[in-house]
Amino acid sequence: MKKDRYFLELALEEAEKALNENTYPVGAIIVDENQNIISRGRNRVHPEQDSTAHAEIDAIRNAGQSIFNAKVNREKFTLYTSLEPCPMCTGGILFANIKKVVWLLNDDVGFGGYKKINDTKIYERKFHEIESIEEPYGDLKQKQMELMSKWLTNPNHVTNLRKAIIPE
Ligand SMILES: [Zn+2]
Repeated sequence: MKKDRYFLELALEEAEKALNENTYPVGAIIVDENQNIISRGRNRVHPEQDSTAHAEIDAIRNAGQSIFNAKVNREKFTLYTSLEPCPMCTGGILFANIKKVVWLLNDDVGFGGYKKINDTKIYERKFHEIESIEEPYGDLKQKQMELMSKWLTNPNHVTNLRKAIIPE
């Protein structure tokens, strides 16, 4: 869908904000079925010193009551994220009753969990209710990859934090 691209661009903007705040560059947007933006989220792990403060969880928290209203009214919310959700965020997506998930970049070597958990078939019935779209736009995927390569040189990246305390 045409609008998917627009919301993924907004997720990328959030990812860039996160990077500027010296934390992992991931952004997320939740949208209702009429294309209204319900909430925005971004990674806040380092600013908040909270390992669970991922972009998708941030967006779900910021959506507040809307999540429950959507469940009651059987409304279908979509979550757009710049990176494939990790296992924790995949759990959050299931609990938040999100019905469509779109991400810009797969995370096979990192903490990507959506596809792995889906593949186990453990929550088959839950996943069956969710449409997922991976890597729909090559150029936007490239932008997320660029943000992630910038993250490698960030002082808060774990390898750089280690270098700072342990002399080579
Ligand atoms: Zn996550």
